[in-house]
Amino acid sequence: MKTKLCLLYGGKSAEHQVSLQTAKAVIQALDHEKFEIDPIYINTEGMWIKGEAITGPIESVKALEFSTGEMIAPNALSTSFVSTPSESEAGNGYDVIFPLLHGPNGEDGTVQGMLELLNLPYVGNGVLASAAGMDKVIMKNLFAQAGLEQVKYVWFIRSNWESNREAAYEKVEKELGYPCFVKPANLGSSVGISKCTNRNELETAFIEAFQFDRKVIIEEGITAREIEIGVLGNDDPECSVAGEIVPKKDFYDYKAKYEDGETALIIPAEISSDIYHQLSNTAIQAFKALDCSGLVRADFFVTNEGKVLINEVNTMPGFTPFSMFPLLWKHSGVEYPALIERLVELAQERHKDKQ
Ligand code: ATP
Ligand code: MG
Ligand code: MG
Ligand code: MG
Repeated sequence: MKTKLCLLYGGKSAEHQVSLQTAKAVIQALDHEKFEIDPIYINTEGMWIKGEAITGPIESVKALEFSTGEMIAPNALSTSFVSTPSESEAGNGYDVIFPLLHGPNGEDGTVQGMLELLNLPYVGNGVLASAAGMDKVIMKNLFAQAGLEQVKYVWFIRSNWESNREAAYEKVEKELGYPCFVKPANLGSSVGISKCTNRNELETAFIEAFQFDRKVIIEEGITAREIEIGVLGNDDPECSVAGEIVPKKDFYDYKAKYEDGETALIIPAEISSDIYHQLSNTAIQAFKALDCSGLVRADFFVTNEGKVLINEVNTMPGFTPFSMFPLLWKHSGVEYPALIERLVELAQERHKDKQ
């Protein structure tokens, strides 16, 4: 019998387009003899649109974007929403839901919470890990508590900043200085992030970041290599080889990630085994600090002195076959289709574990 997989893709966040690319790649890679795929497209207004079942690879992202189908309420995923759901009657017979969503309303625990209510197995991190990983302030506070080293940071809520902007800028200058990075607390793909080298840039950066979030984090800017590691598993997660990002410009911004293709990904990264051990140990500690499951991509800075600082974990990292996370696993011996299948297994394992 085929495994019935429901793909959720698109979404309301600024990372909508990225999700479409990923969905296309996942549909293309899946073994259609083993999997039946029900696609649900979430448009930029947040409407859920259920398309025809997909039984073979698709040609273009456009086909996904304009997928015509019936508009559904999210809880239509399950036929058993109102009663106590039992395993057998859950969710239109879906075996697993795969939320291929990045950013708020997808990677942040909201969709995961709904799937918990519906008692459906789903790929990736649960409510807590997703929510904690989406908010860079909460994530960094948890890392600090776990004793992980990171850059210095401060943060502001929009209303605090509005009531005394001067005080906010002074705090940044006093505690961090320049260069610093201003980021929306809840986002990804570098959307809304600016590097600042003076007060003028700082003011502009705050305004920009507050377009995307009511909370903004500012970090000390560091000159360091950027190294990433993939983590896969549930209670006993494993690490991939490490990969290095070498952006051609100032930093790894949205354009460098998705548009100009200029950034070099070096896999495996040329690092000593000592640094690799520090990175992989820290990645596992970070995974556990947020109580993650399924997968994360842990992003690090490694300074010239060989100091390892964790930057963040991404609970639903970029997932096209050319994205860092799948490439890291490919170099660790897990090809893209096998990686997807492993994630589906992990979802089922975690679901059983919870019962
Ligand atoms: P994604 O989720 O796609 O990895 P993101 O939006 O969560 O990205 P970050 O990874 O925090 O953003 O930052 C994006 C990029 O900005 C980093 O890859 C790095 O190039 C640069 N950067 C971020 N913070 C710092 C910092 N404190 N010092 C130096 N460079 C930084
Ligand atoms: Mg991120
Ligand atoms: Mg991200
Ligand atoms: Mg990152």
